[in-house]
Amino acid sequence: MSSRLIVVSAPSGAGKTSLDTHVRGRNADRVEMVRSYTTRPARTASTVEKEYLHVTRQKFQQMCDAGEFVEWAEVFGNLYGTAWREIERITAAGKIALLEIDVQGGEQIRAKFSGCVTVFILPPTIAELRRRLVQRGTDAVAEQQKRLRNACAEIKSGRTYDCFVVNANFERSCTELEDVVLQRRPPHLSREQGIAKCDRLLEEFQQHDWLNTSEVG
Ligand code: 5GP
Repeated sequence: MSSRLIVVSAPSGAGKTSLDTHVRGRNADRVEMVRSYTTRPARTASTVEKEYLHVTRQKFQQMCDAGEFVEWAEVFGNLYGTAWREIERITAAGKIALLEIDVQGGEQIRAKFSGCVTVFILPPTIAELRRRLVQRGTDAVAEQQKRLRNACAEIKSGRTYDCFVVNANFERSCTELEDVVLQRRPPHLSREQGIAKCDRLLEEFQQHDWLNTSEVG
């Protein structure tokens, strides 16, 4: 059952939701996204969004105490969690469960399901990531800056993932992700190449001192 679990993580703005949505859309009979519970209020933006089950902090805490979550994490001040029953519902139907969660969650899932596959989506450059965050326009500047700082931490942690997809060309990235999700073909990048790409992106943060500048864009 664990090979039917695919964790997809990425720094904010790398395009994971668009890629996941596309791959899921093309394979609706075989792949289903695991809906997460969150205390974050729903956004009204028209960008592609992961579908959530929105709950209050109190309800989330109750579910946590009752052991309903496989994993949970606090991201940007909001709680996010994956419920056992969501994974069970999808795998019981014989489908591949796609988990779009952060690296903290990815690590917890891997500890519980040793055969799961972890995929990390990377932007081509940090300059491009900044541009996408600004263009998305769903968050205030301070929030974008927070996401950029968090991206650096995510990329550092993402070095432990199994597979890497660099989202430079959307169509090509969709095919690469689909290959991994359906276990059709080995990943386009070797693990070593993926880690080397993470390192180059981390160097880019340092070169531009972007983690210390207060303005994005
Ligand atoms: P957003 O609020 O922008 O949709 O998501 C913020 C971050 O929370 C993203 O990195 C997303 O992948 C992560 N996230 C979403 N759902 C879950 C979850 O169930 N568990 C964990 N650990 N992270 C999640």
